[in-house]
Amino acid sequence: MTRIDDLPIRDELRGKTPYGAPQLDVPVRLNTNENPHPAPEALVRRIAERVADAARHLNRYPDRDARQLRAELAAYLTRTTGHPLTAERLWAANGSNEVLQQLLQAFGGPGRGAIGFDPSYSMHSLIARGTGTSWVSGPRTEDFGIDQDAAVAAIHAHRPAVVFVCSPNNPTGTAVSAGTVLALHDAAQAAARDERGALVVVDEAYAEFSHRPSLLPLIEGRPRLVITRTMSKAFGAAGLRLGYLAADAAVVDAVQLVRLPYHLSAVTQATALAALEFADTLLTYVEELKDERDRLVTELTAIGCEVTESDANFVQFGRFEDAAAVWRRLLDHGVLVRDNGVPGRLRVTTGTRAENDAFLDAVRAVTKEIS
Ligand code: PMP
Repeated sequence: MTRIDDLPIRDELRGKTPYGAPQLDVPVRLNTNENPHPAPEALVRRIAERVADAARHLNRYPDRDARQLRAELAAYLTRTTGHPLTAERLWAANGSNEVLQQLLQAFGGPGRGAIGFDPSYSMHSLIARGTGTSWVSGPRTEDFGIDQDAAVAAIHAHRPAVVFVCSPNNPTGTAVSAGTVLALHDAAQAAARDERGALVVVDEAYAEFSHRPSLLPLIEGRPRLVITRTMSKAFGAAGLRLGYLAADAAVVDAVQLVRLPYHLSAVTQATALAALEFADTLLTYVEELKDERDRLVTELTAIGCEVTESDANFVQFGRFEDAAAVWRRLLDHGVLVRDNGVPGRLRVTTGTRAENDAFLDAVRAVTKEIS
C-alpha cells in the first residue's frame, strides 16, 4: 500500500495529520464553535429564491469580484461598528480560513515569517506552513491574555512579515485591547525586515459575541492592519463557507493577485446575500447566545471550575489533572466538547439552553466521578 510519505511530498508536510475536530454522532455537540440555531424558515425560503435565480445563470462564471456581496458586507460592518466602509475595502472568500490563506500567499511565503500568540487558533500556523511561511509561537500571560511587553519583544527578536492577533481568541475566549493591538502593530512596523513594513492580521471571527466593541476602526490610517471576519459563527452559516476582511483598498488589490479566478461560486454569493438580508434577525440570536455564554461562565464557576472570562461563543474551563480523561467522561455522558491541548483545560461551545443544561449536568456528574 502506498503511504503519503512514499510520495514526493514537501518535507514540511511529512508525517503530519490534517486539521479537524472529531465529527462524532452524539446527542450534544459543543465542540466546533458553531451557532446552534438553524436558519429561520423565512431565510431558508429567501436562500431558495436567490439560489434559483443564480441557477438560471450557472452556464456563466460568477461575478469574479463579488461586487454586490462586498458592498453588502461593507454596509453590514458600517451599520454594526459605526465605522464607514465601502466595497473596495472589503474582500470575501470561502471561509475566513481562505481569506487568511490568501493573506499569507500575498504577504508571507518562503523566506518570510509569521508570529502568533499561543494558545490560539491553530490554523494560523497550519496555513503558514502550507504557504511556506516560517512560524514563531509567541507568549501569553497566565490568564491567557497577550503579554504586551513580551509580545513586543518577540516581534523585535523575530522580525516577522505577518503578525496574527486573534480577538476574541480561540480557544481561550479572551479579547485583546485596542492599545495592545496598536503596540504590536507599531512594533511590527519598526522591526520589519522589509522597509515597507509588516502586516498585522486581527482575526475577529467571534467579534459579534464580544462584550467589547470591534477593533475594526483601527484600520483607519493603518494600511498594514487587516480585520478578518466570518459568517460561520454570528450568522449561523458555517456550512456556507463565507469569510471576509476589511482593510485598506491596497490590501484587497494584493489578495486579488493570489485568489483563484471565480473562487466564490454564484451559489455562495447568492446564499450569503440572502443571509445578509436577515442580519438583524440573526443578531437577535447572537444576543441570546451571549446571555447563555455568560450563564455558562457563572454556572461553571459555581460548580467549582476555573473559568476563563469569555468574549466569544465558547468558554474555556478547567482546571483538570487529566483534561483528556474529563473529555472522554463528558462524551460518555453524551456531550462532545473540545480538547485543544491547553494543559488542564477544555473548551465548550455555547449551545441552546437545553444543550447547555445537558452539558452542565454532565460536568456536575463528572466532577463527582473524579473527586
Ligand atoms: N478564525 C478563528 C479564530 C476561528 O475559530 C475559525 C473557525 N473555527 C476561523 C477563523 C475559520 O472560520 P471559517 O473558515 O469558517 O470562516
